[in-house]
Amino acid sequence: MTTDKSKYQTFEEFGFKKDILKGVKEAGFRLPSPIQQQAIPVVMEGKDVVAQAQTGTGKTAAFGLPAMNNIEGKGAVKLLVIVPTRELASQVSEELFRLGRYAGIQTVAVYGGQSIGRQVEMVGRGAQVVVATPGRLLDHLRSKRLKRFEPSMVVLDEGDEMLDMGFLEDIEAIFQFLPKERQTLLFSATMPPAIRKLANKILKEPVAIDVTPKDVTTNVDITQRYYVMEEREREEAMVRLIDTESPGRAIIFCRTKRETDALSTTLVSRGYASKALHGDMEQRQRNDTIASFKKGRVDLLVATDVAARGLDISDVSHVFNYHIPFDPQSYIHRIGRTGRAGKKGMAITLVTPLEYKELSRIMKVSGAPIKYKEIPTLNEVRKNFMDDLLSKLEAQEVLDEALQILDLVNDADQLFEVASRALSALMDAKEIAGPDRIGLNSQQVQNMIRRAKERTGPYGRTQKGSRFNRPGSRSGGRPGGKGPKGAGSRPGGYKKKGSS
Ligand code: ADP
Ligand code: MG
Repeated sequence: MTTDKSKYQTFEEFGFKKDILKGVKEAGFRLPSPIQQQAIPVVMEGKDVVAQAQTGTGKTAAFGLPAMNNIEGKGAVKLLVIVPTRELASQVSEELFRLGRYAGIQTVAVYGGQSIGRQVEMVGRGAQVVVATPGRLLDHLRSKRLKRFEPSMVVLDEGDEMLDMGFLEDIEAIFQFLPKERQTLLFSATMPPAIRKLANKILKEPVAIDVTPKDVTTNVDITQRYYVMEEREREEAMVRLIDTESPGRAIIFCRTKRETDALSTTLVSRGYASKALHGDMEQRQRNDTIASFKKGRVDLLVATDVAARGLDISDVSHVFNYHIPFDPQSYIHRIGRTGRAGKKGMAITLVTPLEYKELSRIMKVSGAPIKYKEIPTLNEVRKNFMDDLLSKLEAQEVLDEALQILDLVNDADQLFEVASRALSALMDAKEIAGPDRIGLNSQQVQNMIRRAKERTGPYGRTQKGSRFNRPGSRSGGRPGGKGPKGAGSRPGGYKKKGSS
């Protein structure tokens, strides 16, 4: 690192133009975040950068502010940002517009599923910033449709995700069309070997910046639990755990879009404000869903990894893994949505006995302390619910108006009726139902773990040198995302592309 970290404590110190500073102030940013402190000066010096930072750390402004500060006048695209998903394309382009508007910056989001003609027109109208997904961008470049498109700065955002989604070839092809004289920045939450390789190809003597916390999985603010049930009990188990936890705002991760729809429908029928979020939805529908969740009209967002990737949603009390993710990085990424900014969070994972070995692999590679718990019985949940309600009632202050109504009550029978109706009203539409017992009990789970250990043999005991730390993963399976990304793309494994 060439920069002195302690030097840049305020946005003024970077030496931005006043119109850029005005955008920063209007956006409500008071102090630069760590990635901004470190990346902005380097980017302003014109150097290439490869930066590792988690979602939500302010990467957009980290590259956007110095890039837009350099842009003079209108008339040609100067900054190209490549992002993996449509959501990110619109989110990043909105953020850049917000920050750059006073400097006269126009941004265009370019992604599939949108009118090609309109995109070409918007770009040709003099936008200086284009934020694009790889597929559609390559399409435009191959057909030479974009006019005045000579970006002197190119940003690859969420690089690891781009590779996971199978965009490597597209990205390499895109760079064939870009000016050789350019500044290039690569941002990624993790740095698996494939990303380093790509960085070597497209960056020139990059400055490396790493602001990832080294202990995401051991964040003490996140309680991590797993529950074991049979496959056929999965939905009931989910509902039961939601009833038990009464989450304020939760993201429930599923593997497929069909699963998100089915589970969300079940939750709505059980009285929860829930919505599905997946890649097959209309853009507007997705934006609406995200907005409802942010505003609190929807409490339970049932999402696929890809659809939820990079979305800036804070204040999530619970993350539920309806299905276990395929690799430790995804697990870390998912649970990192909760327990932010010093708040407490809860991460809950459902597994079947067959899936237990995947869970234990995640625990080993990531070091995440995930503890087993028994799924509460119906009676336990009901009892807790009633205890809660009674203690809320005891704490409730008595209003004069309430006493006036009670004055109108004539006898004990009527009093009883008023009380039962009042309680019913308080219990709202949520019905606590389902079988009394769901899932395996402690004894069964202990047996399951013992059998799993016997099967794994000596490898099961050690962390270092186990089959989960293959050669090529230099970090020895430490948390923080440096572990073997390859663990997720095992043979016959699942491809994220298309399943969102
Ligand atoms: P990332 O790309 O790292 O996931 P974003 O750039 O999307 O993060 O930023 C996450 C959120 O934080 C956005 O809502 C953004 O407006 C806000 N943000 C970014 N930088 C700052 C800052 N210095 N102060 C306050 N909020 C910020
Ligand atoms: Mg981002």
